[in-house]
Amino acid sequence: MFYEKTYALMKEKGLDAIVVSDGANMRYLSGFRGATGYLYISEKRRVLMTDARYTTAAREEAPDFEVQDPGNARNYGELLNGLMEEDQAKNVGFEEKYMLYGTYQKLSKACNGRLNTELGDSLDRLRSIKTEQEIAYMEKAEAIGDQAFSHILTVLKPGMTELEVAAELEYFMKMHGAEKLSFETIVASGPNSALPHAMPSTRKIEKGDFVTMDFGCVYNGYCSDMTRTVVMGKASDKQKEIYGIVLEAQQEGLDCATADLRGCDVDRYAREVIARAGYWKYFGHGLGHSVGLYIHEDPRLSPTCEETLRPYMVETVEPGIYLPGFGGVRIEDMVMITEGYCVNLTHSPKELIEL
Ligand code: ZN
Ligand code: ZN
Repeated sequence: MFYEKTYALMKEKGLDAIVVSDGANMRYLSGFRGATGYLYISEKRRVLMTDARYTTAAREEAPDFEVQDPGNARNYGELLNGLMEEDQAKNVGFEEKYMLYGTYQKLSKACNGRLNTELGDSLDRLRSIKTEQEIAYMEKAEAIGDQAFSHILTVLKPGMTELEVAAELEYFMKMHGAEKLSFETIVASGPNSALPHAMPSTRKIEKGDFVTMDFGCVYNGYCSDMTRTVVMGKASDKQKEIYGIVLEAQQEGLDCATADLRGCDVDRYAREVIARAGYWKYFGHGLGHSVGLYIHEDPRLSPTCEETLRPYMVETVEPGIYLPGFGGVRIEDMVMITEGYCVNLTHSPKELIEL
């Protein structure tokens, strides 16, 4: 696993040790999937603290860590303090983003104030650049999504509710290797498709509706994410126009999503396509986000992200146009960044599908 990556960070921040509490970061650094407890990493030792429900799995999944059980009282503070004493650690980093205030107060007191350095998102950011293995897991997760989309095209028909369509997508993904969903599936039809993050409802899909489906699953811990919008029956001229603009903007985003461009530049190039067509007001979210162990990671493709993209980052490219009362279109692919181009991990068709 990737625990070595923390040593440079500890050096840079002048830390004697770090305490990791976020489940994804614990998994990334140790291999432990249980997402319960803490990692303690110092120059001298690596300890995974978790309770009896997980210790057997922890020993198997995290062979580079000693596993310690805080016992029935779940007294992590005492365990951590003991480790810091032994190491004579004075400055210890912790994940303030992922720790409840009450938990922090308890641990900090038990460790006599040595839990004193906020790590911000620096552990998360160790995960931004993926390995070939991580990319392979995400490619597999996205392939399950692609299969689910092909499947839904054969079952989607007027009269089905949004919830039924969502259930069908989810069941299919789980029956084809998904361990869970990356996020709650979005199925938005007719006027609901104008809400970028609509919750699927009991609304029955009608002829003439746009149906936007945004879904993804987890394979070996890694998320996938894709969106397709289809029309039930014949598309109107207006629907064709909107769809065509979003598709063009998405292609522009894909063409620009390469190493050495900043997240905000890629966002701007794609957004300009929508702006030129007169719809800039109706694209109210960022162009995309990184994906990994979590569905939304940094850096983003958004107007405020000045970070430069690097090879082996995985980003989504997902422009949309949302017209209140009329409906909306979003098209989303997940890509791997390289020098000069991006590798699209999504293979579902994107020409307008009329069902
Ligand atoms: Zn999505
Ligand atoms: Zn997304």
